[in-house]
Amino acid sequence: MLTTDKVTTLAFVGQKQAQKLERLGISTVRDLLYHIPKYYKDTSNIKTLSSLTKEDSPTVIARIKELKNIRIRSGKFIQKGICYDESGEIPITWFNQPYLTKNLRVGDLVYLSGKLNPKTIKPEMISPEYEIVKEKNLHLGRIVPVYNLTKGISVKWLRARLDNLTEEIAGLEDLTDTLDNKIKEKFVLLDLPVSLRKIHFPDSTTDIIESRKRLAFDELLEIYFKLLREREKRLHSKSPAIKIEHLIIDEFIQKLPFQLTKSQLLAISDIFKDYAKPYPMHRLLQGDVGSGKTIVALIAALPVIKSGFQTIILTPTSVLAQQHFSTINTFLNGKNKVILQTSASKNSREDIENSDIIISTHSILYQEKELLKRLGLLIIDEEHRFGVDQRKQLVDYFNRLNRPHLLNLTATPIPRSVALSLFGQMDVSIIEKPKARIPVKTFLVPSSKKDDSISWLKQKIKEGGQIFWICPLIDESDSDNPMMSVEKTYSEVKELFKEFNVEFLHGKIKSNEKDRILKDFKKNKIQILVSTTVIEVGIDMPNANIIIIENAEMFGLAQLHQLRGRVGRNNQEAWCLLYSKLENDENVMSRLKYFETEKNGIKIAEYDLSQRGPGEVYGTIQAGIPNLKVANFSNLELMDITRRAAEIIYKSKLE
Ligand code: ADP
Ligand code: MG
Repeated sequence: MLTTDKVTTLAFVGQKQAQKLERLGISTVRDLLYHIPKYYKDTSNIKTLSSLTKEDSPTVIARIKELKNIRIRSGKFIQKGICYDESGEIPITWFNQPYLTKNLRVGDLVYLSGKLNPKTIKPEMISPEYEIVKEKNLHLGRIVPVYNLTKGISVKWLRARLDNLTEEIAGLEDLTDTLDNKIKEKFVLLDLPVSLRKIHFPDSTTDIIESRKRLAFDELLEIYFKLLREREKRLHSKSPAIKIEHLIIDEFIQKLPFQLTKSQLLAISDIFKDYAKPYPMHRLLQGDVGSGKTIVALIAALPVIKSGFQTIILTPTSVLAQQHFSTINTFLNGKNKVILQTSASKNSREDIENSDIIISTHSILYQEKELLKRLGLLIIDEEHRFGVDQRKQLVDYFNRLNRPHLLNLTATPIPRSVALSLFGQMDVSIIEKPKARIPVKTFLVPSSKKDDSISWLKQKIKEGGQIFWICPLIDESDSDNPMMSVEKTYSEVKELFKEFNVEFLHGKIKSNEKDRILKDFKKNKIQILVSTTVIEVGIDMPNANIIIIENAEMFGLAQLHQLRGRVGRNNQEAWCLLYSKLENDENVMSRLKYFETEKNGIKIAEYDLSQRGPGEVYGTIQAGIPNLKVANFSNLELMDITRRAAEIIYKSKLE
């Protein structure tokens, strides 16, 4: 048999079951083999009947002494019985399982596992799971795998199929362990067939840990190989030749309305050094919100333009594109041709061909490649904010271009350990916030104080402040939803703040209207903007000094940190108020309380990493990372092992 064979090749798997398995993403033998348990139930700890106490959910081995179907008043049946072991006996009751007396008979030795009746003084088992004791038991008396299921596929059936399959695993001709023995020894990894057996039917928790380690290793190895291949390809491709005329750059920097920070200058020098190399740059520019990445990106573009190439700045939203467009135009003072390309804009071919900088949403990706023959530098702002499809499109598009230099901008703080292992193939420059910035005062506001905050907010607006009011939803798609929507909040806030101008913003608003709203907000014609997280990425509103976040529990801390960075950008005092209705949820509260006091983005990211896994960070790396079944990016130790192994194996293959 081959792992690529259809599941119907297996005994007891017919066309009907195959169709149902399809719903679980299982169509081949391999898919079934890699249908990894969701979790395990340990029923291996067998208790004696006399030792049971009410708090137990025990597993016992006992013999059936009596078992009867009894008709009760409603016409339904209950099954009552008694079982015993050498220590004593207890009653058992099942409800409405009339076939049970056919499966179990007096005298049978069975595993029973379940809860005890809380109402009786003497222990009594209620609706326990059962399995007759055999030479080999699959469902009780051991560490039992629990799987994702679908209608018509029972866990018992699935276990039986996987048991057969993994017992006969040696018969799978194409399931070869390609990992060298030396590597397995060096990094303490199980053989592949062994780990596939053990992940389904472990004899101990060690088995689970070891088999998961091996399978996770394989998944990560795949990723590292991909990164290594990409790097190899990049190092062997030719880049657009960029000449740097330092005088011109220095002059530009001199004329800026502020002095560049040391870390900005360092990042610029990193980028210029990359230009001098024969292969294209691939650099990640990481800097907290408001650290001034845009100006660094613009300066990176200057020599590119001077050398006769174009730069594209790709943004995840049209709002952000619009904002970059106006800031960059201001900085350039009309010296270069900058165009804005969104789905709403009407640039001609010539406009695109003749421009120096194109600021664009993903809509540029749908333009013909020929239009961008002169592309020298691609800057991607907050790549992880692009949709999955857009990112695929982006990678695709990028691969069709003559490799331009690539600069990724991100405000997602990346813990060092993650940066090392996942971004090892990318160069990283980090810029720090200008020192003067005052930290945003953050408060988790109890519901009881929410009303009190209104008059305080009014006072702040009267003093000239402006408010972002963030909600997780746009509208109330379902009235039971406890989450605040922009629509609902807007009508409430408008009522509460009659004397001020309140407007709302979200991703579904037409881009002309969005621009109008943001311009009005910038001019302080609007004092309160109720919005979804569309304002999260990159929006620069220097006068905004308060951000309120409804349903704060809905957001990752890294995201909250991004949102918080939207205010206080003008070095004024600024506040972030968190509202959450989950006041009784300790986990939520401790996470938000941590966020209240911690101002350091990297520390917040590390905390998030340990609590929720690296969703945000993970999103920052390139698209095309497969869904992980076993591996987890928060297992830094395994990531490190795998990276080292990948390099050894990769090198040995090249030799
Ligand atoms: P982000 O890194 O979040 O993209 P921006 O590039 O939008 O940040 O910069 C935030 C603000 O800081 C902008 O108004 C920008 O002009 C300003 N800025 C950038 N660099 C400096 C600096 N060295 N000193 C003072 N202000 C700066
Ligand atoms: Mg930005």
